[in-house]
Amino acid sequence: MTTTAKDIIKRIKDEEIEWVDLRFTDPRGKWQHLQMCSGAMGEDEFEDGLMFDGSSIEGWKVINESDMILRPDLDAVYSDPFSATPMLAVFCDIVEPGDGSLYARDPRSTAKRAEAFLKTTGLGDTVYVGPEPEFFMFDDVRFEDGYDRSYFKIDDIELPTNTGREYEMGNLGHRPRAKGGYFPVPPVDSTMDVRAEMVSTLLEMGLPMDKHHHEVAAAQHELGVTFGTLTQTADRVQVYKYVVQMVAQAYGKTATFMPKPIKDDNGSGMHTHMSIWDNGKPTFAGNGYAGLSDNCLYFIGGVIKHAKALNAFTNPTTNSYKRLVPGFEAPVLLAYSSRNRSASCRIPYGSGDKAKRVEFRFPDPLANPYLSFSALLMAGIDGIENRLHPGDAMDKNLYDLPPEELANVPTVCGSLREALESLEEDYEFLLKGDVFYREQIEAYAALKWEENARLETTPSPVEYDMYYSS
Ligand code: GLN
Ligand code: MG
Ligand code: MG
Ligand code: MG
Repeated sequence: MTTTAKDIIKRIKDEEIEWVDLRFTDPRGKWQHLQMCSGAMGEDEFEDGLMFDGSSIEGWKVINESDMILRPDLDAVYSDPFSATPMLAVFCDIVEPGDGSLYARDPRSTAKRAEAFLKTTGLGDTVYVGPEPEFFMFDDVRFEDGYDRSYFKIDDIELPTNTGREYEMGNLGHRPRAKGGYFPVPPVDSTMDVRAEMVSTLLEMGLPMDKHHHEVAAAQHELGVTFGTLTQTADRVQVYKYVVQMVAQAYGKTATFMPKPIKDDNGSGMHTHMSIWDNGKPTFAGNGYAGLSDNCLYFIGGVIKHAKALNAFTNPTTNSYKRLVPGFEAPVLLAYSSRNRSASCRIPYGSGDKAKRVEFRFPDPLANPYLSFSALLMAGIDGIENRLHPGDAMDKNLYDLPPEELANVPTVCGSLREALESLEEDYEFLLKGDVFYREQIEAYAALKWEENARLETTPSPVEYDMYYSS
C-alpha cells in the first residue's frame, strides 16, 4: 500500500479535515503529538516532513542539536474521533535533518529496521505480532476542592478483598471480588458498554478488532485486537491505548496500563503472540513438539536465553516486577509449554499450521511496543541463527513443582534494577543489522535508571507501616 501526498490532500478536501495531528512515540512508549492546521500541510510537508524541536523529548537530543524532522508515514493515517473538529492523526518517523536517515533513537524506526533485518536473514519475509494489552479502569472522582483523588476511589472494588476482610466490610453488592472479574454478565460487569464503545471506536478508526471482555481482576479489562505485522501492530497498540483512555475519560473514568495497580489482585500483561512467515508459508509450523518447527523452538530458545535483558524493554517499569510474582497468572519461570499458562512461553493449544505461534506472557502494557516487539524478534532470530534449543517443554503446573525441580528453571528478572543490569551485560544480539544502536540502548537505559533511582530512594508508605514504630 502506498498512499501519496496527493491522496491525503484530496482526503483533507473531501472530508473537510481541519487538523493534521503529527504523532510519534518517545522512548518510554508515550504517544506525543504536534497539531498542524490542514492548510499548512502541502505536498512538500507530507513528503519531506517538518522541522521540530526534539530536544524536550526525554532521552533524545541535547539542546545544541535539537532540530529534527517529523516525516509523515502516509500509510499510517487515522481519523481521530475525539477531536471537536475533523482531524487526521498521522504516524511520523523522526528523520535527521542532515542526511535524511531515520533517527537512531526513534522507536518506530527501530521497528522498521527490525522488519527489514528479518528479510536479510533469509528466515522469513514477515513477522506477525498479536498483543493482548490489559488495563484497569477506575472512577475519575474530582472533589469539590478540585483535588483529583481518582486513584483512591476504585470503580468496582472498595479494598483488596481476598484478605478475608470483605466480611467485615458489609455488603459489596454486585462488585466482583478479587480474581472474580472473569467474567460474569452485568451487573457484575458494570462497564460492558464502555468497553463496547472502545471497540466500536477502534473499528471505526480502521483497527481490526474481534472482542472485548472483563479480565480476572476487579476493574480489569481487555479488548481483542487482531494480529498484524510488527510496525503496523505497534502503531495499533498506540491507537488502542489512546482510545481506551479517551473513551474511559468520556465516561468519567480513568484507564491505566500500569502493570500492577492493586496489590492483591491480578496485574495487567501484554501477552505477545509472534510468528515468522516466508513466501506466504508459516515457518513456525513443523513436526516437533506441539507441531512446531525447529526454527520456532530455536526462536523460543533465543527469547529464553535473552529474557532477562529483554525485560528492560518488555517490563520497563519499577511497577512491572510487582506483577511478575507467583499466584496471579503472570509468569515467573522461563519455560515453554503448550498446555499451561504458567510458562513464560505458551504455544496456544490446537492451532493449525497457519495459526502456529508462540505467546510470550511476560511483557506488560507499559512496554514501548516498537522496542519490545523488535527486541523479542531480535532475540528469536539470534536463537534461530545459533540453534539455541530451549530444552524440554514444561507440561506441568510450574507453580506446583517441587523446589528441587524449580531450582533449575531460570526466572524473569525480579526488579527493574536486575533488568537494566542484565541489559548492560547482554545487548549484542540487538545490534545486529543496526536494528538497535548502542547509544540508543544507553540513552534508554539512562531514563530507566532514573525511574529506578526515584523509587529506590523514596520512602514508601509500606515502610512507614513496617518500621515507623519499630
Ligand atoms: N492478567 C494476567 C497477566 O498478568 C493474564 C490473565 C489472562 O489473560 N489469562 O499476564
Ligand atoms: Mg486475551
Ligand atoms: Mg488477558
Ligand atoms: Mg493470552
